Amino acid sequence: MRIDLHTHSAASDGTDTPAELMRAAAASGLDVVAITDHDTTDGWAPALAARPAGLTVIRGAEFSTAVPIGARRVSVHLLGYLFDPDDPAIVAEHQRLRAERLQRGLAIVDLMVADGIGISRQQVLDIAAGAPVGRPHIGRALVRAGVVDSVTEAFSSYLAGHGSYYVPKLDTDLRVAVQLVTAAGGAAVIAHPRGRGEFRALTAELIGELADLGLAGLEVDHPDHDAADRAELTEIAQRFSLLRTGSSDYHGHNKSLTLGQCTTAPEALQRLISRTSGATGPIGGSA
Ligand code: AMP
Ligand code: FE
Ligand code: FE
Ligand code: ZN
Repeated sequence: MRIDLHTHSAASDGTDTPAELMRAAAASGLDVVAITDHDTTDGWAPALAARPAGLTVIRGAEFSTAVPIGARRVSVHLLGYLFDPDDPAIVAEHQRLRAERLQRGLAIVDLMVADGIGISRQQVLDIAAGAPVGRPHIGRALVRAGVVDSVTEAFSSYLAGHGSYYVPKLDTDLRVAVQLVTAAGGAAVIAHPRGRGEFRALTAELIGELADLGLAGLEVDHPDHDAADRAELTEIAQRFSLLRTGSSDYHGHNKSLTLGQCTTAPEALQRLISRTSGATGPIGGSA
């Protein structure tokens, strides 16, 4: 059984529509796929409507969160699975994050325009097409303007976190987000805990504290993790009885990743499902 628990559609910053994502998941031989767009559940309905027979869909979202370290806030992504999308606290936080992303995306565009870069607010809004605005949407505008050749190239220059066009956004406190997902009947899993700068915040001590707050698992197998990262995270997961997931973090053409590049063991998925209230179950046969 091939299980990929982290993918993005055009409902956030992927390039496949939710329906295309479902077809691509089936075509690449997956039995189970989770749709986990950034800060929105808008892709759920169109994904389910297009679900090929035999494919099981896990409904999820990737929450933008942060851990305060002194005066700084380290960005951490939190996957929430099978939570109630109508939970008032989740709805309110998704609305706040969407507004925050819009304001911050436009601020980045304004800085670029002021420097004579040939993109516009409207162009980025058209590319986002109603999705919560992310840097990959700006990256696609930069590709269209001929400023860079790919979104990946944009991320190593114009969109880099240490670059002069970077504008932060006010993300949910990680501890609060874990409690939010858990209270809404879902299971919370930290996405790519060693993917970028997260190691500065996600100490074993903090992960243990999050486990006490309801954290269900760690995304150990992720394309951004090397063997040493995976070994370290496996040890931390065992120490705190957290389940271990694996996923591709597929974004369509925005990143050169393939569906099913990393996968989750069926036992881990069963444990994950057992941590949820059942308000939003898996849809389809094989899970
Ligand atoms: P934002 O959420 O607006 O801060 O943008 C971060 C998003 O950009 C994440 O969801 C990543 O998946 C995506 N991203 C980060 N690095 C890259 C990259 N090198 N190429 C393409 N997308 C990236
Ligand atoms: Fe993304
Ligand atoms: Fe992420
Ligand atoms: Zn992701």
